[in-house]
Amino acid sequence: MPDYDVIVVGGGPGGSTAAGLLSKRGWNVGLFDKESFPRDKPCGDAISGKSVRVLEELDIVEHVEENPHQVANGVIFSSPKGDEVQIDFPKKKAAEWRRERGASPYTNPGYVCRREVYDNIVFQAARKFGADAHEETPIEELVWDGDRVAGVKTANGDEYTADCVIGAGGSLCPVARGVGAYDRDPDHWVAAIRVYWDDIADLTDNIELHFLDSVIPGYFWIFPLDNGRANVGVGMLESKINEDGNERDLKALLEEAYEHPMFEGRFDNATKVEGSQRGWILPLGSKQRPIHGNGWVLVGDSAQLIDPFSGEGIGNAMMSASLATERLDKVLNNGGATRANLAPYEQAVRDEMWDELKTSHRLQKMGQHKWLLNFVISRAANSPHVAETISDMLADRDKKEELTNWWFYLKLLFK
Ligand SMILES: Cc1cc2nc3c(=O)[nH]c(=O)nc-3n(C[C@H](O)[C@H](O)[C@H](O)COP(=O)(O)OP(=O)(O)OC[C@H]3O[C@@H](n4cnc5c(N)ncnc54)[C@H](O)[C@@H]3O)c2cc1C
Repeated sequence: MPDYDVIVVGGGPGGSTAAGLLSKRGWNVGLFDKESFPRDKPCGDAISGKSVRVLEELDIVEHVEENPHQVANGVIFSSPKGDEVQIDFPKKKAAEWRRERGASPYTNPGYVCRREVYDNIVFQAARKFGADAHEETPIEELVWDGDRVAGVKTANGDEYTADCVIGAGGSLCPVARGVGAYDRDPDHWVAAIRVYWDDIADLTDNIELHFLDSVIPGYFWIFPLDNGRANVGVGMLESKINEDGNERDLKALLEEAYEHPMFEGRFDNATKVEGSQRGWILPLGSKQRPIHGNGWVLVGDSAQLIDPFSGEGIGNAMMSASLATERLDKVLNNGGATRANLAPYEQAVRDEMWDELKTSHRLQKMGQHKWLLNFVISRAANSPHVAETISDMLADRDKKEELTNWWFYLKLLFK
């Protein structure tokens, strides 16, 4: 008899969602993380509506509401030229979407919540639903039974077996590496750093994305948190960081950004939170990798599902975890976690996310044209109608595709 029905490697939002939903359905789950919770994770801390939908499935939206957070109601974009536009998140539509599906009454379109807080909420929920949590237990290798993944081996040599192993160990997930799915292609990975600041002037309930000249083809962000704190950072494609042999220093770009005339006065009385500057890497969903096999599935960053335009990965981590648990729930007692039985999980991820990821990849490429950013942001800044159209497009998967159509920009010329 295996030790568990399912082993989950990694207790971030993806792994804890998977462990929580499976335990809630009565499966015997072992959840392993190399760290102990609560723990920090370098991130922008922006939690989108997609994550909120899975929080509802787990019944824990109120836990976010009860803990320190900032509700995010919109986004401010600025162009390399210095134009700025504020766009509301379509709160009303999101609320309607949720009500139609009988979800909880919370209508907030998104949050900014420190990962130290947020991840702990999801991790503790998984434990409460019954997952057997092993903290400070790094997984080093997979245990194989022929060509089937049959379990995991910890750093101190203990072995645990299961019918299925879920890889949710983030960018460097040992499961993705063990099954040979890991692929560090610099055209599809971003490096980013974040730092916390207290008392930046003029924070609002909008997240801020600034396409500064110095950081393009990346962006500089300021995301407001609770208590006057903000999450600030910069990210860029790895291939662009090292383009032409000229390595661009993200830390230097960040320092430069603070001095940009656009933020004049905003950092004057602000203080950096000591020790909070940390960098990490993001595998973008602009390249597909296999995410299932005999006895294993990958979710979240391990499955390479980060939005290539926004850098948002928490939503897809939780959503992919939810899809994986749906499939496992069907097959564990009905043919088992074989490659063939798990194939519909990979298909469900493609159906649910792939079109949007492809659209975002096209937007990421278009966003490298400064003139285009200048043009669109200036149009939106001068026309509430254009700003509203873009807001609708960002919220609606199908309409978002129109943003990648040059006709849309041509039409803007006449609006
Ligand atoms: C600087 C930066 C800013 C970002 N900003 C945003 C943002 O604002 N919004 C957004 O949605 N996304 C953002 N992202 C992306 C987001 O952080 C990830 O997509 C998200 O964390 C993926 O969740 P996950 O559960 O798949 O992996 P993770 O959150 O990385 O969790 C993986 C877990 O696995 C554990 N682990 C790793 N190796 C092992 C091992 N060998 N054994 C046991 N456990 C292990 C880790 O300790 C960790 O707890 C950002 C990323 C970066 C780097």
